[in-house]
Amino acid sequence: MERLIFEAEHDMFRASVARFMAAEIAPHAARWRNEGIVDREAYLKAGAAGLLCLWADTAHGGAGIEDLRFDQIVIEENVRGGETGFYLHLHSNLVAPYIAKLGVAALRDRLMPKIVAGQTILAIAMTEAGGGSDLRAIRTRAVRDEEGWRLNGAKTYISNGILADAVVVAARTGEARGGEIGLFVVERGMAGFERGRRLGKMGLAAQDTAEIFLSDVQVPAENLLGDPGLGLAVLIEFLATERLIAAIASMAAAQTALALTMDFVQTRLAFGRPVGLFQHNRFRLAALKARIDAAQVFVDRLVLLANAGQLSGEDAAAAKLIASELEGEMADLGVQLHGGAGYMDEFRISRMYTDARISRIFAGSNEIMLEIIARGMGLDERDWQE
Ligand SMILES: Cc1cc2nc3c(=O)[nH]c(=O)nc-3n(C[C@H](O)[C@H](O)[C@H](O)COP(=O)(O)OP(=O)(O)OC[C@H]3O[C@@H](n4cnc5c(N)ncnc54)[C@H](O)[C@@H]3O)c2cc1C
Repeated sequence: MERLIFEAEHDMFRASVARFMAAEIAPHAARWRNEGIVDREAYLKAGAAGLLCLWADTAHGGAGIEDLRFDQIVIEENVRGGETGFYLHLHSNLVAPYIAKLGVAALRDRLMPKIVAGQTILAIAMTEAGGGSDLRAIRTRAVRDEEGWRLNGAKTYISNGILADAVVVAARTGEARGGEIGLFVVERGMAGFERGRRLGKMGLAAQDTAEIFLSDVQVPAENLLGDPGLGLAVLIEFLATERLIAAIASMAAAQTALALTMDFVQTRLAFGRPVGLFQHNRFRLAALKARIDAAQVFVDRLVLLANAGQLSGEDAAAAKLIASELEGEMADLGVQLHGGAGYMDEFRISRMYTDARISRIFAGSNEIMLEIIARGMGLDERDWQE
């Protein structure tokens, strides 16, 4: 279906991003998946091509383009023709905005030019072994001292955990559960900042996921992001964008899985005809295509609302919920219609199936998305009193 949100300048940009992905990312993707990590040069090349933090201030080397459609195009083309485990959207859209929007000028001026250039790679560390969904249960602590803040704790499942040069860490600054949480930039080389092993995963093989450990890490005062007690409110605000970004990536994966499957079912013959022509298969594909088209319109609409500063947490949660479910369903149907080939590493659909599974869990699990939507409908368990 034709998408109506893009103008000619977006189409030109998309063509150039597709060329970049084909030339600079795709040729290395298989090696990165084997090694379990992306080359640092991928970020440098993306930075040099102007594909990181498009929104960033021109004074920091960015393009100053506050139009999420351009970011959407980068994400879509990376999924389609680059490497899903190359997390440039985590760097550009999920983590860098914390530094650019909440950091003091000295921190912004020091870090943002390197972030935009891809020299400083970013990660965000909220999740702990004790729990990820319940941010109020964070146990990592930050204590104020004369030199700034001292951090102690451990985080897990951190994307870019090995590659990252700067990590935005959520840490408790007050005593009460659910009370004050602050956000701090912990940098490579700070004493007491260690990374654990690279964690083995079901999918997203090229993406390095790791534990990080903070043992009396002395963080200068300028590395505090915003109010030390209001990090939870900030996370909740920023997580709406994170969920829309996740929905964009999931839709791109669903569209790609559909395209791969269409190619396959039209050429693979069984009982003398293409397998896509059996009514059962045609109808399953048709039903999913209808839902993918509808969801794409919804996600595209939210991109425009985000541009207008009107993205609600509930709508972003709905988009993430629907898109990640469609991604999973489409990858599953794709494997099924590929037959035995769908289970083989050499067919991309096999990889898409395992990559897709995390989309229903991270960026807030889909159960948490349902919770957010339900609360928005006025169905809030916390309000109930017998
Ligand atoms: C590959 C990968 C990359 C990740 N990257 C990052 C990262 O970069 N940074 C980061 O901070 N974290 C990251 N995470 C962590 C991820 O965000 C968490 O795994 C996720 O939020 C779920 O938290 P949990 O694993 O602790 O599960 P839990 O919170 O323990 O949840 C377990 C189950 O209980 C359900 N559940 C929880 N609460 C409720 C409720 N109120 N109602 C109904 N069901 C509920 C959950 O939906 C889930 O099904 C990553 C995880 C993975 C696997």
